[in-house]
Formats: sequence, structure tokens, C-alpha cells
Amino acid sequence: MSGFTDLQTLLVQGGFDCPACHTFHAVSLSRVRLGRGTLGELPAAMRELGGTKGFLLADPNTWAAAGEKAASVLASAGIPTARHILSSSRPAPDERTMGEAVFRFDPSCDWIGGIGGGVVNDVCKLLAKTSGRPYLYIPTAPSMDGYASASSSMEMGGLKVSLPSAAASSIVADTDVLAAAPREMILAGIGDMTAKYVSLAEWEISHIINDEYYCPEIARMVRISLERVVRAADAAVSGDPDAVAAVTEGLILSGLAMECAHLSRPASGMEHYISHIRDMRSLAFGTRADLHGIQCGFAVLPVLRAYEALRAVTPDRERALAHARSFDWAAHAAVMRDAVGPGAEAMIRLEEKEGKYDPARHAVRLERILARWDDLTAVMRSLPSAVSMTAFYRRIGFPTEPEGLGMTADEVRLLIRFAADIRDKYVLTRLLWDLGEPADGVGI
Ligand SMILES: [Zn+2]
Ligand SMILES: [Zn+2]
Repeated sequence: MSGFTDLQTLLVQGGFDCPACHTFHAVSLSRVRLGRGTLGELPAAMRELGGTKGFLLADPNTWAAAGEKAASVLASAGIPTARHILSSSRPAPDERTMGEAVFRFDPSCDWIGGIGGGVVNDVCKLLAKTSGRPYLYIPTAPSMDGYASASSSMEMGGLKVSLPSAAASSIVADTDVLAAAPREMILAGIGDMTAKYVSLAEWEISHIINDEYYCPEIARMVRISLERVVRAADAAVSGDPDAVAAVTEGLILSGLAMECAHLSRPASGMEHYISHIRDMRSLAFGTRADLHGIQCGFAVLPVLRAYEALRAVTPDRERALAHARSFDWAAHAAVMRDAVGPGAEAMIRLEEKEGKYDPARHAVRLERILARWDDLTAVMRSLPSAVSMTAFYRRIGFPTEPEGLGMTADEVRLLIRFAADIRDKYVLTRLLWDLGEPADGVGI
């Protein structure tokens, strides 16, 4: 059979034959045990990895949530483990936490078991890469889609970086553990998924404008995961283990979609960049940051409003060309330094390499935008309305106003203003810039 079917088939086959790309989209994750009480299957999961002695890493909260149980299940099966519980109950994904994990690693262990959320997972993936040991992940909250990816989102020297790491070979997701996670973490997982509405649309938009690689089959895989999560959301936030299983499966699948595409495009767009800028400001200035999925999910709302307004705009070649000619990059970069802090330097260097604002490149993109405007607005129309997304968020208790994240509307605008400079991806504000359309013209 070709094309994506379901998670377990994908894992058994090690990927799927793509009817669109005519290639095999491979995944490195080989086994997911998802359901109630799957912690009991840990000994079997470990034997599949070929392991004999495990190094377990958790933080104090996640150790209490699942670590003790995991260790006792392994001990009852006669499997030895070493363990380290991180000193912080809110570990940061930085050099300090990584150093702690490396210092405490017991080299007599031949596999690594990470027990926790995104930070423990990111640290363990790096530890697995540097130590050359296979990695088994036991998530304690369905809060983000990075379970299965082979990169770790870290903070290095005060900057957010994505470091190559080792993907988990096996995941043991016990929904009795996951359903008991704080409600905010379940909401975060849902927000990291609703973000996919935007990322999928922007992937297609960039394909139309820039001929960027796009696979409709991978997009379909993410859309299936997304719909599943949205359907399960109400029951998941009230702690129903089966609904939490659906959310978890959706998160795993969308992480695998990035691996299949060799791009983060299927799962991350403008809304993720807005979240990244907020994280960078938090690192630089100590301002508040919320869970990744809460920030991304919240950012979906202004992005949806903007696309709704933008699809009603009639592009104007002269206005767009004049806007590109008059753009003052130096002034933009100066304000960015103040707004983002030291992280702005990497963004400025990126622009020197990319030339996003180069008038000649702009002119080429603009002609494509003008020629394909109907196709572009069709993609924008495929997005859910901001009103329906707001109603969905309100129903499940997800924040819909900046105040819910301790922000003002002005701060949200600031995040949006510099979000496109963070990496080279073509996202909402790049399209606005290409059109010479002011952000406040589309309500942001
Ligand atoms: Zn494909
Ligand atoms: Zn995400």
C-alpha cells in the first residue's frame, strides 16, 4: 500500500511510499506503546532496544509522575538502572542542564530512558547522540510535538538554537500518566497542533511563491493528526485517557511528518516564529514566557485574522515595488536589536546571507504572487476562521487574549514585527512585506 495510513503501520514499515513524491519517506522511530498502563511494558520495550542497563533521567516532578513507577517496573523484571533526577523542577534547556546530565551519566548503561516533558526529552536526545546509546522516551505530558524529532531545541549563550540530536527509537506513552498532567500542559499540546493550520497553509503558500518543496501526502498526514486532536480536545482537557491518547498520537505523527519532509514546514510557521521571538525576549530581558504550545496556539489567532483580511486585498504592483524600494533595513535592524536583544545579531547575519529584503529578489516573487493570487487566496480561504478558532479555544479554556499570557496588544505586535527575521522561512509577514501591505492594514 502506498501513502500514509496510520501511526502503527508507519512504524512497522519504517515510513511510507509517497504517491506524490515517488520516494519512501522514512522515519527512525520504531515503536510506540500508547495506552493505559503501558509503563508495565517497559521491560519488553527495553529488550527490543537491545539494552541491559538503563540510565534514567527525570526532573523532580516527572520522577514523581512516572519515574518511580518506571524504575520499580524495571527492578521487578530484574533490569538494573542508574538514575539522575535533575536539581531543578523547572529545568531550562541550556548548557547547565545538559552539563548536569553529562556529568551524572553512568557509562556502564547501554540505553537512556528520558522521563518528562520537552526539556528532559531534548536533553536526553542530545545525551543519546553524544553517548551513542539508544534512547527510549517516557513522556509525562502531551505538551509538544518534539517527541520523535532528531533535533533538540536548546538555549546556548542566551540564544535559541536547534541542535542535531538522536531521535527516540521507542516511546512508552502511558495515558494514565499523561492524562494526569497539569491541564495547562494538555492545552499546550493542543496549541502546538492548532498551529499546524497555519504552518500547513504557509508551506503551500511558499510552494506557490518560491517553488519550495511541498508534499501533499505529508500535509495530509498532519491534517489527519490535527483533526484527531481537535475532535479529542474537549475530553482531553478534562483528563480522559483515551482522548489524551488521541492528542499524543497527533503530536507524535506531526513530529514524524517533519522527519519525513526533512523540514519543519509541516509543523511550524509564522505562529512558531512569534513564539520564538517571545522566548528570545524572555532570555534577553527576563520577561514572561509561557509553554511553547500555549504561545504557538495563541499566536494562531492574530495570524488567522491577518490572512482573513489579506485575502480580500487586491495586490498593487506599484505600491509593492515602491514599498520594497523605500524599505530601510538598517532602521529595521536597529529597532530589532532593542526589541529582541543579543539574539538579533544572528537574525541580522541571516539577512546578510539570505537577502530577504533585496529589491531584485522581491520583484521576482512579486510577479509570481500577482500571477498566482487566486491560488494564494484559495489557500488562505482553507484556513479556519479566527472567530471559530476563538470559540474553540474559549470552550476548552485556552487563552484568546494577550492578557491571558501577561502581554499587551502592543507586545504581540512587536513579536509579529520581527518574527519573519528569525529564520529564512517564507511566512505571513514576508508576504505582507512583498505586497507592501502594512501590518495594521490586516489588523495586526
Ligand atoms: Zn511525499
Ligand atoms: Zn511546536
